[in-house]
Amino acid sequence: MDGIADLHLHTTYSDGTLSPGELVRKAAAVGLTLISITDHDSVGGLDEASDVGKTCGVEVIPGMELSAAFDGSEIHILGYFMDYHNQNLADSLSGFREERLKRAERIVNKLNRMNIPLSMESVLANTTGDSVGRPHIATALVSEGHAETYHQAFSKYIGDGRPAYEGKNNFSPEETVRLISDAGGLSFLAHPSHSIDEDLLFRLIEAGLDGIEVVHPSHSPEIIRYYRGIVNEYCLLESGGSDFHGGQRGDEQILGQIGIPISTVNIMRRRLFSK
Ligand code: AMP
Ligand code: FE
Ligand code: FE
Ligand code: ZN
Repeated sequence: MDGIADLHLHTTYSDGTLSPGELVRKAAAVGLTLISITDHDSVGGLDEASDVGKTCGVEVIPGMELSAAFDGSEIHILGYFMDYHNQNLADSLSGFREERLKRAERIVNKLNRMNIPLSMESVLANTTGDSVGRPHIATALVSEGHAETYHQAFSKYIGDGRPAYEGKNNFSPEETVRLISDAGGLSFLAHPSHSIDEDLLFRLIEAGLDGIEVVHPSHSPEIIRYYRGIVNEYCLLESGGSDFHGGQRGDEQILGQIGIPISTVNIMRRRLFSK
């Protein structure tokens, strides 16, 4: 039996709690030999991760997780194997991170108007300064005593549709897929949960989407079968991973448990060569 590859992991370069080196060593310790690091809007951890990977037998595929504006909310699109030193990509990512900073300020302002005296400084104290996200705000809300738990910070204040939620001004789904393919990468619709809007799926395929993240901790076995069916029907590729954020927010046991067969990654490599 083929080992598994975990193609969805976060580090301190976005909202994970382990540095790239720590994460790669932990992956090696649980028996993984093939991973991708997919920080939100950042490729900053990839060089460190692949250097450490060489010392402990873990191959690190370049990855990233981008947010695209859709239907008043957002979807996530994973990119793999892109040239992560590509200038156009670097410029776009730095724009996305600037927008994240402005959006964090909008969320903090909303919280302040709700009489929660959270400061931007306390949010930034939780980040490496690379890619600021709601998890950093949730952590600050807990450490300043405004929420009891990390998850409560989302359900009470900053989760999707909650009173202090603010979206980001992002690229469209099509622009996001093109950004990845222009940098030589493969694009995957991330964790589509229980359903994919059919119109969105066709738009993405038309724009050059390569696949769907079929395996994810939020997907039940039935949902996994359902997305495998869609992938086969439209000649797409399959991806998957644990979406591990470091093991401090209820995700302690997941690393090494969720992924796709290594042979599935070889199918991705073949697609890359034929592009
Ligand atoms: P952002 O990209 O800043 O909108 O933050 C999205 C990230 O927040 C996701 O990748 C998760 O790590 C986390 N997240 C979103 N919603 C929730 C939730 N309801 N509970 C816990 N974590 C969440
Ligand atoms: Fe995240
Ligand atoms: Fe995501
Ligand atoms: Zn993720």
